[in-house]
Amino acid sequence: MSSRLVLVINCGSSSIKFALRREGDSQPLLSGLAEQLESPSACLHWKAGNEKHRRDLPGADHQSALAALLPLIGAHAGQPLSAVGHRVVHGGEHFTGASLIDDQVLQAIEASAPLAPLHNPANLVGIRAAMQVFDQVPHTAIFDTAFHQSMPVHAFRYALPDNLYRDQGVRRYGFHGTSHRYVSRQASLMLGKPAGSGAWLTAHLGNGCSSCAILDDRSQDTSMGLTPLEGLVMGTRSGDVDPNLYAHLYRELGWDIPRIENLLNRESGLLGLSGLSNDMRTLEQAREQGHAGAILAIEVFCYRLARSLAGLTAALPRLDGLVFTGGIGENSALIREKTVEHLPVIGLRLDPQSNRQLPRGQAGQIQQPGSPSILVIPTDEERQIADESLALLDAPSA
Ligand code: ADP
Repeated sequence: MSSRLVLVINCGSSSIKFALRREGDSQPLLSGLAEQLESPSACLHWKAGNEKHRRDLPGADHQSALAALLPLIGAHAGQPLSAVGHRVVHGGEHFTGASLIDDQVLQAIEASAPLAPLHNPANLVGIRAAMQVFDQVPHTAIFDTAFHQSMPVHAFRYALPDNLYRDQGVRRYGFHGTSHRYVSRQASLMLGKPAGSGAWLTAHLGNGCSSCAILDDRSQDTSMGLTPLEGLVMGTRSGDVDPNLYAHLYRELGWDIPRIENLLNRESGLLGLSGLSNDMRTLEQAREQGHAGAILAIEVFCYRLARSLAGLTAALPRLDGLVFTGGIGENSALIREKTVEHLPVIGLRLDPQSNRQLPRGQAGQIQQPGSPSILVIPTDEERQIADESLALLDAPSA
């Protein structure tokens, strides 16, 4: 029997990211992006091996963009799909793992929409369109929040009146779960442990950033909360601020809620601190040239990350290692070095030479002898989604 194929889909409000994966392969057969959907400049980009392609799809909506994928998949797959795996941002408390999508699951995703108003409705549009286009195949949903459903109550509750949790679902959910799970599993394999065993701190550092404490494949605590704004400094998101900032800005400046939401989500983080950019590469270059804002942004980013990681050790019985991932974690030796400099108290010591010499895009170990492992592991959320989708189909109850 040839190995199975999974199409992984991540739908935004005007875009669809996709990857066609063969079971067991480290690289996708086909991957790409349909963007600017429902506009005259809608188009489809895809990559197969080293070849890049582009096709204009003026005015295409999610369904017609997915229909345009059908012949591409036919050309590259050579066999029917076994599943379509969808990334869904918020699963509320309904979902602790991958789920086969049926009417009940669609309703539950809809019910979680108030918790992720920008993401869940877009994910649903994509799921419904894909179910029409790929109507002979099981569809699965893998939720960013599901991995963190193992957090104990003392980690997921806010110190707020109980009814806000009971009636409104106000609690900490956490995000980036697929990435945290993938890299912690890879970390155990790299150190020769059984897959999914060990006590890890993971730092997913992309445009959004979050940290996580993981024990034996179960999230114990994470830096993001009710929404992906809580926690670390990010590209344009502030991460933690005093919750009274809302009242302060309202009283002092007369700002309304949308204005403050925009400030905290789109004008803050690395961009706000540096006054220059949300892009770490740009900030590293500017830092070299002595740009004060870039220097400050990098210092705050690393200190706040280190503080979060040190705090998360409270959720672990011991520490086997720290994993860096995401665009910044995988590529920035500077950020890794400056972050670990703040962490000698938890025994972490980085080897500057192996840190700087680690080739981009490759996994490796960068600790000094005697330190818990410090690992760099490229994340692969699509692979994790494909694996979880197939594991779900293999499960006895599927
Ligand atoms: P997303 O969260 O959108 O998936 P990525 O994981 O691709 O984002 O991460 C984007 C971030 O990674 C940007 O801040 C970018 O500057 C940073 N990054 C990518 N390559 C490098 C590099 N070589 N050095 C420093 N930062 C990098």
